[in-house]
Order: sequence, then structure tokens, then C-alpha cells
Amino acid sequence: LVVMDGVNKWFGDLHVLQDIDLNVDRREVVVVIGPSGSGKSTLCRTINRLEPIDQGRILIDGEPLPAEGKELARLRADVGMVFQSFNLFAHKSILQNVTLGPVKVRGKSKQEAEARAMELLERVGIANQADKMPAQLSGGQQQRVAIARALAMDPKVMLFDEPTSALDPEMISEVLDVMLELASEGTTMVVVTHEMGFARSAARRVVFMDGGRIVEENTPEAFFNDPQTARAQDFLSKIL
Ligand code: ATP
Ligand code: MG
Repeated sequence: LVVMDGVNKWFGDLHVLQDIDLNVDRREVVVVIGPSGSGKSTLCRTINRLEPIDQGRILIDGEPLPAEGKELARLRADVGMVFQSFNLFAHKSILQNVTLGPVKVRGKSKQEAEARAMELLERVGIANQADKMPAQLSGGQQQRVAIARALAMDPKVMLFDEPTSALDPEMISEVLDVMLELASEGTTMVVVTHEMGFARSAARRVVFMDGGRIVEENTPEAFFNDPQTARAQDFLSKIL
């Protein structure tokens, strides 16, 4: 569903993504881990073209990412993204946050978008907060709104970039629970996270990045129990 083929990217002199080949199949959950600065966020951001790439190609469901314009907006809508900072529209209600994209980009009617938004808010457990403003919600609640907002576009794949790392400990599990449920329903997901419990229970594959490269790629069992490279062993010894 997502194909990255020989992707290279530089920030000035920094070769931030080096020869990245990564395929994510439909219904697959891929967890990306690695040290700070290894290129995990950049990799995520290239998948919906928040960051352009310098070499290689990226296909979403067989289509290359268009450079700009309406086509890019449509393809971007196919790639839902949830960030560490929730990035909700601060001056719009929770409900409006979730309906805006479907109305503007998908051309849904307001009624249709609202009905679907309420369904999704129900699913992430915050339908009763629909009329509030983002600042009135806890971090965990805001992050669940961000997930609902991304899902409202009916994306083909969901990208999560450290969705729980800005949250207080007691709010982490409420967000992970939503993500686990999505995974079990067969949502195609790419998840950058330090939550190894999530990786163990939800990932079909763990991708370990270091220095802009994919250094190791394996099932969670194999990766955690028997990492093949010294770099992965070193990383795991620090976080586990
Ligand atoms: P973390 O775990 O800290 O989030 P990461 O693996 O997500 O790290 P990236 O954010 O992808 O790493 O950054 C990879 C490298 O690219 C880092 O050295 C970072 O400083 C650099 N970098 C990221 N964004 C930019 C940018 N817009 N301009 C220049 N350099 C950047
Ligand atoms: Mg990052």
C-alpha cells in the first residue's frame, strides 16, 4: 500500500534518509523505532509529502505523490497523520476539527460529515465533548480527537509520530488503547513510538532506524529477543 523505493533526502549536508526501501502492506502495522535524530519523523513526513524527497519514489496505493495542488491535497487525505503535538485547530470546536477536512477536501455535506464525526468521536470515547474547544480537553483527549480527525478522511494509511510522548503517563494508555483497537480492526498503520508494549502487541514488523538508514527489520519477537546488529542491541539495552 505504501511503497518507498530508494528514497534519499538531504537537509543541506545532512543525509537524513539513506536508501530507504520500505513496503507497508494493506492492514499491516509497522512500528518504527530508533535513536533520536535517526530520521524517523522525517521518514513519516515524506510519506505524505510534508517533506519532499531528493531521490527515489514513494507510491501510495500505486500512485506517486503529486508535487502540489489539488491532487496533493487528495492524496494527503489518504494518509492520515497524528503528531506528538496534537495540532488541533485551536479556534474550532472538537466537532468542527473533525468535520472540516471531509467537507473541504472530500466534498462531503456538513450533515454527512457531522454524522460520521460523531461516530468517530464515539469510537475514541469523547462524543460528549464535541462542542468544547481543544484547550478545554486533556492532552489524551486532544490526541484522541486528532486520531478521529485523521480517520474522518477515510485514509488508506495512518501515520503516527510519537503520539503519546507528550502525554502524562496516565493518559498514554487511553491513546494506545485506541491505536490497538485500530490495529486489531486492520487499519494500515506506520507508528513511530517508544512504547515497546505497543510494538510487541500490535506490530507485524519492527523497523529499526539509525543514522538515516533502516538497519534492521523483523517481527517484534525476533527483534526484541534477538536483535541482529550491534546498534540495535545497544539501543534496546538503553530503553528496555
Ligand atoms: P526524534 O526521536 O528525536 O524525534 P527522529 O528520528 O524523528 O528523532 P528526525 O526528526 O527525522 O529524527 O531528524 C533527523 C535529523 O534531521 C536530525 O539530525 C535533525 O536535526 C535533522 N532535521 C530534521 N528536520 C530538519 C529540518 N527541517 N532542517 C534541517 N535538519 C533537520
Ligand atoms: Mg521524531
